[in-house]
Amino acid sequence: AVPTAVMVATGRGASLGLLIKGGEALQRLEKIDTVVLDKTGTITTGHPQVTQVIPTSTHTENELLRIAAALERASEHPLAEAVLRGAKQRSLTVPQAETFESHSGLGVAGIVEGAATLIGNQAFLRSYSIATEPLQAAADHLAEQSQTPLWVAIDGELAGIIAVADTVKSTSRAAIRQLHSEKLRVVMLTGDNERTARAIARQTGIDEVIAGVLPSGKADAIKRLQAVHRIVAMVGDGVNDAPALAQADVGITMATGSDIAMEAGDVTLMRSDLTGVAQAIVLSRSTMRIMR
Ligand code: ADP
Ligand code: MG
Repeated sequence: AVPTAVMVATGRGASLGLLIKGGEALQRLEKIDTVVLDKTGTITTGHPQVTQVIPTSTHTENELLRIAAALERASEHPLAEAVLRGAKQRSLTVPQAETFESHSGLGVAGIVEGAATLIGNQAFLRSYSIATEPLQAAADHLAEQSQTPLWVAIDGELAGIIAVADTVKSTSRAAIRQLHSEKLRVVMLTGDNERTARAIARQTGIDEVIAGVLPSGKADAIKRLQAVHRIVAMVGDGVNDAPALAQADVGITMATGSDIAMEAGDVTLMRSDLTGVAQAIVLSRSTMRIMR
């Protein structure tokens, strides 16, 4: 039989918008000492915007954005949507890409108007031997301001950077403060670059950053924390973090995320803000105290 205290706690959770999937999830929640947060869509809104277009001398701003948008049209990534919106805002006519190949956690490659085109992170361009030095200072400066530089190469040459900024949710900073007051360590786990990730961590009070992680490496990152005896809750929206949610001691998903994530999670937050995480942990702690 389910103990009365567990029933009361799950009922109270539901009234707070926290769906806790059973007594076992509640027990594991109590023991959590580390909360790992996905960045895009979890700490931030996940609806980034183009803030700046910085071409090299070979292209104009609009040409760069138009060609990048052609490639991103075939991608479903939130960054791709930002580039497409950016092109639309400038009323650019976006051509059809001739070929398209997506590299998860890195970027996209294809042929646009006969030219081999790449858009993605710096490591992605470097893997094609594109020299990125001419725009290194500009990229670092953007990243320091919490923006993500998307690197573009056309015909084997660096063509520019498209800067994209995501907004930190208004509730994230306070939610992270609540986690700290419960003596929890807060870690960001992201595929984005280290500098941008650190800038957002500073802005929100996050203790530790694990950046530049490929989607396939996110579950391993959780394993490494568990190997040093951390008991880990992972919070994500399920866009490429379902394996990490499953690996964590407790997987916490946001109801606005993908359906896969909601299935993977032990706890679902009905509201798309992080304040529910501390609430769920406080609820589990008080319930387990009653049961002893
Ligand atoms: P996150 O951890 O935020 O979900 P991803 O693992 O999906 O990030 O992507 C990591 C990085 O790879 C992005 O920050 C971006 O630099 C690059 N990237 C991934 N997909 C794309 C894309 N469609 N267009 C441009 N860049 C991309
Ligand atoms: Mg993601």
